[in-house]
Amino acid sequence: MAIVGVSKRQPAAVVQAAIDAGLREIGENYLQEAREKLPAIVGARRHFIGHLQTNKAKAVVELFDVVQSVDRREAGVALSRAAVAAGKELEVLVQLNVSPTERFGCDPAEAGRLAEALRGLPNLRVGGVMALGPISDDRSVVERAFARAAAVLPQVGGTTLSLGMSADWRIALRAGSTMIRIGTAIFGPREAP
Ligand SMILES: *Cc1c(COP(=O)(O)O)cnc(C)c1O
Repeated sequence: MAIVGVSKRQPAAVVQAAIDAGLREIGENYLQEAREKLPAIVGARRHFIGHLQTNKAKAVVELFDVVQSVDRREAGVALSRAAVAAGKELEVLVQLNVSPTERFGCDPAEAGRLAEALRGLPNLRVGGVMALGPISDDRSVVERAFARAAAVLPQVGGTTLSLGMSADWRIALRAGSTMIRIGTAIFGPREAP
C-alpha cells in the first residue's frame, strides 16, 4: 500500500520535512503552485491529481512522474505528445466518476475503452484507476462508490487502485485501495488559497 502525501497549499519546507521523515510520494492539484514549489523539493515521486487542461500537458509532464487524473482521450493524447517530446515515460491512472458530488472523471462504463485508447499512445503506461469518494456521512454510500471503482480496475488494467483521502481512507482500504491520497491528516490544515 502506498501513501501519497497531498501537499497542495502546504509550504515547501513542510513537505520536504515529511519526505526526509520517509514519505515517498507527493501529490499536487494546481500546476501554478507546483511550478513554484516542486523545484525546491527532492526525494519523492510526484503525482498530479488535479484537473488536467490539455494546453498545460507539457508543463505537467515536465514536473510530474504520474498523472492520476486522466478522464478523457484528449488528455491522454496531449500527455503522450508531451512525454514523447520530453523523452519521458509517464504513468497515468484513469480517473473514474463514482460520486454525484464530483465534477470530473470518466463514466465507469467507458473506462475500459478509454484505457485501451491510452494504451495505444506512445510513452504512456496505464497504471490503474483513481477516484474520489462521495462527500457523505452515510458510510454505505462511500462503500458502494469505492466498490464500483474497484470493480473497474480489471477492465482498465494495471495494479493501482487510488482511493481514499483523510476522511475516508479506512473505508477505501477495506474496498481494496492500494494507494491512499492524504493531505490534512498528514500536514494539518491547508493555507488559505
Ligand atoms: C485534496 C485532495 C486529496 C487530499 O485531501 P485531504 O482531505 O486533505 O486528505 C486527495 N485527493 C485529491 C484528488 C485531492 O484533491
